[in-house]
Amino acid sequence: MDWQSEQFYDEAALDAELRRVFDICHGCRRCFNLCDSFPRLFDLIDEAPSGELDTVESKDFQPVIDACTLCDMCFMTKCPYVPPHEFNLDFPHLMLRARAVAHRKGETRLIERHLAETDRVGPVATFLSGAANMVTDRGNSLGRNVLEAVAGLDPRATLPRYADMPLTKALGPVIPEPNADAPAFGRKAVFYATCFHNYNDHSIATAAIRVLAHNGVAVTLEYPGCCGMPKLENGDLPGVTAGAVPIVAALLPYAAQGYDIVAATPSCALMLKFEWPLLMPGNAEVKALSEATYDLSEYVVDIAKKHGLAAGLQPLAGGISVHLACHSRAQNFGPKAVEMLKLIPEANPALVERCSGHGGKWGYFKGNFDTAIKVGTPAGRALVKTNPAHVVTECPLAGPHLEQVLEAIGQPKAVHHPIELLARAYGLERPT
Ligand code: SF4
Ligand code: SF4
Repeated sequence: MDWQSEQFYDEAALDAELRRVFDICHGCRRCFNLCDSFPRLFDLIDEAPSGELDTVESKDFQPVIDACTLCDMCFMTKCPYVPPHEFNLDFPHLMLRARAVAHRKGETRLIERHLAETDRVGPVATFLSGAANMVTDRGNSLGRNVLEAVAGLDPRATLPRYADMPLTKALGPVIPEPNADAPAFGRKAVFYATCFHNYNDHSIATAAIRVLAHNGVAVTLEYPGCCGMPKLENGDLPGVTAGAVPIVAALLPYAAQGYDIVAATPSCALMLKFEWPLLMPGNAEVKALSEATYDLSEYVVDIAKKHGLAAGLQPLAGGISVHLACHSRAQNFGPKAVEMLKLIPEANPALVERCSGHGGKWGYFKGNFDTAIKVGTPAGRALVKTNPAHVVTECPLAGPHLEQVLEAIGQPKAVHHPIELLARAYGLERPT
């Protein structure tokens, strides 16, 4: 992405590119049911006087751009016109360009800028976690009404809770020793905590670290900063690349010493592996870090394939439904969570490849929440179709949102992370 050139921010050039791509999509329409962007685009065209794009005004494109959650699904799974096709179509990165243009003009809302500053908000919110969690709790109508009025957050949306201290402080000193009897003993990994697991929820990271240690991996826990995905959603490309610098400086020396870098969240793995190299194409250090980085499920499957897993896995009662998170899919390595869960004896996980609808922080906002539930409903229905005992997703934001979708369709169920099932099958689930 040539985001540092002036041409990238030229509004006439952007409009011409939007029109070129939207017209191809109008003729194709394969993506009609992926998200809300495409229905908005097609309705706009169908309701125009000519029924074609030529009578749609460019000012009406904004809702199409706003509805894109940058999930990458259209690019990865549907579009026959992506490079090297001569149409050179990349819908999500065109939406990103439109947001980058708006961001440079100062049009990103203050609350969106604030929510993207996870490393400013996280330390304060963990320190004041009691108060922060009380205000954001869905049951606190006064607090949520204030957040709705001040920040535009839908009072019905489940917001992430904060832990009472960062994961690096809570778990860093007590990481289990690697299991010397495991076939993979000798491997070493940096577990890149990512902002969500560092500040918000420790249970997934704790389960992951226990599973890795049980499998002989010497784990070092690091959190040098947020990968920048929330800033990417805002189109803040300078913010993303500036934030990458200290993370590369902290993690690359480990990679040079033979450590694997394991990102706890699919979106963050996607950033390190694909988005950073795209934004910093000539940066050899970024490239080297991207090559050393694994998604968590990918890493466990890699251990299983190269060495075999450690003994001790026991069957779990009941079926498993797996929601494939969009940023897992965007890594283009197949459904690794399903591969991982098939390592549990007798497990036959069912895969659901539908969007959860949450779109990062997108689904928290008034005006988006109902759409987020609507988009996630087919995924929710598919996940509970066989009445499984376990519903899992690798995305820690999709999980709580899917719980709200299941609540909305009258089939409430807890949604966990696949690594928590693996930890359970090993008998490694213990309170932190
Ligand atoms: S990236 Fe995802 S949300 Fe955006 S247009 Fe494509 S499918 Fe829709
Ligand atoms: S993104 Fe590609 S597959 Fe989707 S509607 Fe547009 S042209 Fe068709």
